Parts: sequence; structure tokens; C-alpha cells
Amino acid sequence: MNSDVVVIGGGLGGLAAAITLAAAGRAVTLVEQLERVGGKLNLVEVDGFSFDTGPSLLTMPWVLRELFATAGTSLEAELTIEPVDPLCRYVWSDGTVFDMTPQLPQLAAEIARLEPADVAGFSRFLGYTAQIYDAVAEPFLARPFRGLRDMFNQRMLRDSLRIDPLRTVDQSLRAFFRSPRLRQVFGRYATYNGSSPFRAPATFNLIGYVELTQGGWHVRGGMYQIARALERTARRLGVSMLTSTAVSTILEHDGAVTGVRLADDRTIAAGQVVANVDPRIVAERLRGTPRRRPAGELSYSGFVLMLGVRGVDPLLRHHTIFFSDDYRREFDAIVTRGVPADDPTVYVCAPSASDPTVAPPGHSNLFILVNAPHTGQYPHWPATAARYRDLVLDRLERNGLPGLRQRIVVERMLTPNDLEQRYAAPGGAIYGLASNNPFAAFLRPPQRAPDVRGLYFAGGGTHPGGGIPLVLLSGRAAAQQLLADAGRAR
Ligand SMILES: Cc1cc2nc3c(=O)[nH]c(=O)nc-3n(C[C@H](O)[C@H](O)[C@H](O)COP(=O)(O)OP(=O)(O)OC[C@H]3O[C@@H](n4cnc5c(N)ncnc54)[C@H](O)[C@@H]3O)c2cc1C
Repeated sequence: MNSDVVVIGGGLGGLAAAITLAAAGRAVTLVEQLERVGGKLNLVEVDGFSFDTGPSLLTMPWVLRELFATAGTSLEAELTIEPVDPLCRYVWSDGTVFDMTPQLPQLAAEIARLEPADVAGFSRFLGYTAQIYDAVAEPFLARPFRGLRDMFNQRMLRDSLRIDPLRTVDQSLRAFFRSPRLRQVFGRYATYNGSSPFRAPATFNLIGYVELTQGGWHVRGGMYQIARALERTARRLGVSMLTSTAVSTILEHDGAVTGVRLADDRTIAAGQVVANVDPRIVAERLRGTPRRRPAGELSYSGFVLMLGVRGVDPLLRHHTIFFSDDYRREFDAIVTRGVPADDPTVYVCAPSASDPTVAPPGHSNLFILVNAPHTGQYPHWPATAARYRDLVLDRLERNGLPGLRQRIVVERMLTPNDLEQRYAAPGGAIYGLASNNPFAAFLRPPQRAPDVRGLYFAGGGTHPGGGIPLVLLSGRAAAQQLLADAGRAR
């Protein structure tokens, strides 16, 4: 077989790279080891319940809009996306409830209920985060990243103080919010890329700004529709898709990529390869001779329960967080000590609250996620998962979902080991690498492999990071880098 480019992995980063390359006229073959594309954004369908196994929240929809436009179609033609309001409901163990809404007057009233003095602090916070977004979005998120020389470019240096990299998220929030609960709410945005609010640089406060100003979105029919739409678009552009097919080796000759060998021993000759597989796995398993693992701290993983339940809980919104009583202690457990939290924050997504197509009438499809140490720190999940499931359900029953267990009609569980094995994700890390120090975001493996010509990286393990919009940007950036290099070589 022959192709201009082989994309290894049909996660969102791989799909974005394949679409961008095919739209530029390249012949692309995408090879995915699983039976369907989507990667961590995947699907379980049981007895009329449809569960998204990974992402449940879409942010920065303009990234998808731009990708579809590149392919000659539009977001509106491919998907129905709906804003979610409240963006999230927060519940504490004493029964206090806080709804984060993008309607600012309503949000100010919610904030005043917790701490009147923090309304002014919130207004200052919005101005401060707008400045960070302005400094970071274009130069850092929207382009290929080539390592330190991009980090030290003029604009980044000029803006280095505006992006507040030297304080942690938690330290910075103390300057805006008196209420520890509001600091917990706004600190939680650090978890959107797998980091701890007590260690991630305050730069990540921009995630809250993005969500409040650009919204949080659900996809009608479930998040897996995103993967379906991208697959459809890629096929329309002529991308050839091989599913249930694993790549075993990236072939190289004279310092350049020459194609890939499949697990069934067939080969595909290609001048360039985009790996949507984590760079650590590529280094250790897919290069003919194993290379040194790129440095970087893995993000935490997740412990997932998918429950089909009778009835609809009035406390639940589309997204509901049941906060732990001691957030610092929780992150100390998950990130520093590498053990499951004994009083975890529990995220419950109930898409059936806003989309009747995803559960049978009168039922709810609950996706429950607890941040959990990755398998490199905590290899004991197979032995402890059943006990942890009980701890999580106890907590939900105590804090607002009484009798939950009795109403379960369908149940599936995913541990960090499952995520690791299923998606070839090191440690089962949800977001690839964490950003738990001021420079981590700039030190991710870049899009272009430094030691072989023609190998590029896309996905959560590379620049700019994990989460749907960032991995899509990373796929686009890998493709752009490849096209620019090919143009120069002509
Ligand atoms: C439980 C959970 C909840 C999440 N929640 C959110 C959320 O609400 N919002 C959000 O934005 N993000 C969320 N994320 C993160 C988001 O899902 C990921 O950042 C993103 O989907 C990762 O995309 P990726 O491009 O890195 O590829 P991946 O999804 O990692 O896909 C890589 C693909 O490569 C394939 N592959 C690996 N090795 C080979 C091989 N040798 N040959 C062929 N194929 C191979 C794998 O099978 C896989 O399909 C969540 C993730 C999880 C797991």
C-alpha cells in the first residue's frame, strides 16, 4: 500500500490532522487500532442508554467551526450543538448549591449569595483573565509550536508578566475571592487540562474566561457525534480509514520516515507520518529502536462509572459537581501522593437532562467521573475498583442522590488501567501531560519529531495539550507544520 501521509490513531487530534492534510490535497491513510475512531471520545450503547465514555463538555466550538470550514463544510451542517446553562451546578456536603451561569447578572447574584464582597472581585477577575486570553490564544494555542525558540519570541517575552505564570491558580484566586468556595469553583478550571489548582500556573485562569465568554456546549445525540462528523468529513475528502488495525512500527531509513508496518505485517509506504499516539508510546514501542521517553509529568487519570438509572434526579443539571470538603487534601492525594482521594470530588454528567435522545423515557444516563492517580503512581486499580465504586456511590447517596443504587438498571465501569490499555494512553492519563509547574505548558513535545524527518505528533501528549479543542488545534498544527516543511523541501 502507498499513501502520501499515514496518520496513526483516529483520536480527535488524528482526525483533525487527516482532515487538514486531505483538504490541502494530500493522500491520507488513517490507521486506528480500535473498531471505531474517536479515541477517548468514544461510545457505549446498552439497552437504550447511550454513554459518551470520555469528554462530556465541548468548549471553544470555534475550533470545530474552523476545521469544518477548512474541509468545505460547516459546523451547522455537520452537528447540532447546544449551549448548556447552567454551565455547571456545584454542590457541597452541607447542601449549599451554586450555579455557574454565563448570564453575568445572574452569576453576580449567585456569587453574592456566597460572599457579597466577591462580586467586585469577580468583575476584576474577568478583566484579568481577558488579558491572559488575549496574550496566549493566538501565539500559543493557534499555531505549531517549535519549542524554546517560540517560548522566547518577542511577543511571549513582552506578555510574560501578563500571563501570571509564577503564582499558582489557587494563590492568584486569593486576590479576587474571599470565599473559599468560590476559590474552589474557579480553581476547578485547572482540572480541565489535568492539573492541580494548587500547582498549575495562574495562566490557566483563562479557561474560566473561555467558558464564561464562549460558553459550554453539548452535542445533540451525544458527544460521539463529533467523532462521527469528523469521520464523515475525512472520508468525503478521500481519507482512507483502516479501523481495527494497529501500527506496530514506524519505518525509517537514513534519518527519514518511509512508512509504517501494521500489526498483521503489511506495510504502508509514506513520506510522512503523523502519530496521534502519545510521544512516550511512540518512543518506546513504535520506533524500530526504542528511544528515550520525552520528559513531562502525566496528567491524572479518571475513575468512571456509567449508570443507566430509573428516574430523573431534581438536583442534577447537565453537569453537576459534588465537591470534596478539602480540595487541597484531595489534590495532594491524587497528584503528590498518587493515591485515590478518600473524600473525592465527584462529577456527574446527566446529558439526558437536556437531550432526550440519549436515555429511554423516564430514565437518566449518568456519567460519573472522579479524578484519579494514573497507573504509574497507583497500579492497584484492578484490586480496589469495586471498593472505590462503593465509596463514590455512598458519597452521592449521602450528598443529594438518595437511593441511587436501587435505581441502577445498567452499569459500566472504566478504571485508569482500562483507559491505558484501550487507548494506549500512558498511565491512563486523561489529558496527556499535566501543567503542574510554570513552564510545563511550554515544554511539551513539539509537533515535529526532533530526530527523524517526516514524523509529526498530534494529540494530548504534545502541544498545546489535552481536551477537545486543544487536541483539534494540535492536529491542525501538526498538519500545517508538515505542509510547510514539504513546501520548503520542494
Ligand atoms: C473520562 C474522560 C473525560 C474527559 N472529559 C473531557 C471533557 O469533558 N472535555 C474535554 O474537552 N476533554 C475531555 N477529556 C479529554 C479528551 O477526551 C482528550 O484530550 C482527547 O479526546 C484526546 O484526543 P487525542 O487526539 O489525544 O487522541 P486519543 O483520544 O488519545 O486517541 C488516540 C488514538 O490512537 C489509537 N492508537 C494508539 N496506538 C495505536 C496504534 N499503534 N495503531 C493504531 N492506532 C493506535 C488509540 O486507539 C486512540 O483511538 C476527557 C477524557 C476522558 C478519558
